Amino acid sequence: MLDAELIIFDCDGVLVDTEPLTNRVLAQCVTDAGWEVDTAYSIKHFKGRNLADILHDVETKLNRSLPDLLDEYRRRMYEAIENDGVPAIAGIHDLLDTLDAMNHNAPHRCVATNAPMKKATLTLTGAGLFDRFTHRDRAGQITMFSAYEIGKWKPDPGLFLHAAATMGHKPEHAIVIEDSVAGVHAAINAGMRVIGFADLTEPTALRDAGAHAVIESYAELLELRDAVFTAGAP
Ligand SMILES: [Mg+2]
Repeated sequence: MLDAELIIFDCDGVLVDTEPLTNRVLAQCVTDAGWEVDTAYSIKHFKGRNLADILHDVETKLNRSLPDLLDEYRRRMYEAIENDGVPAIAGIHDLLDTLDAMNHNAPHRCVATNAPMKKATLTLTGAGLFDRFTHRDRAGQITMFSAYEIGKWKPDPGLFLHAAATMGHKPEHAIVIEDSVAGVHAAINAGMRVIGFADLTEPTALRDAGAHAVIESYAELLELRDAVFTAGAP
């Protein structure tokens, strides 16, 4: 059922465990601006969304313009990533090892993130994952895509469609792995199948958003692998 030629991985919360750090920093910045929120609130309401939309929410709530909020957030976020580092999501290296062992039968893979390329590069490198996605594959394709490159952010389907087209695959032959509701909506809007990775987001929220399957660990995905990764080389 879930045969795939291409697996599109979201980055934050799917490959690298950045969400606790970034939502902590975001909650601090929003609180400093005058709206007292904590990390849990940020994870529930801001995670996976476009920063411009989050800024709009905060400005509406506080009824004033906050021209410096996003710059301040980015400054503090990069500082925290450099100081604290971010780990790889548990089990992702095992999953990639399994895919690598399939050689020419393995589906293609790529990263598609709402984050700037700078952030994805920094976090993936720190987690030992950068080289596993930026290799040039058989067709010499680049395998990282940022919403900032095309000006379309999830839940818009544009980023996933761009990634699949660049990788040479039709949307219906791609599977997306996503941990946020916005990302699940983007995949559904792109006509792709999507596996919800329920780490910080409730499984029911991902299911309600339309995820075709929900896993809580990569060990679960490996158990499903015969059903998921059955595509031949294109
Ligand atoms: Mg994510």
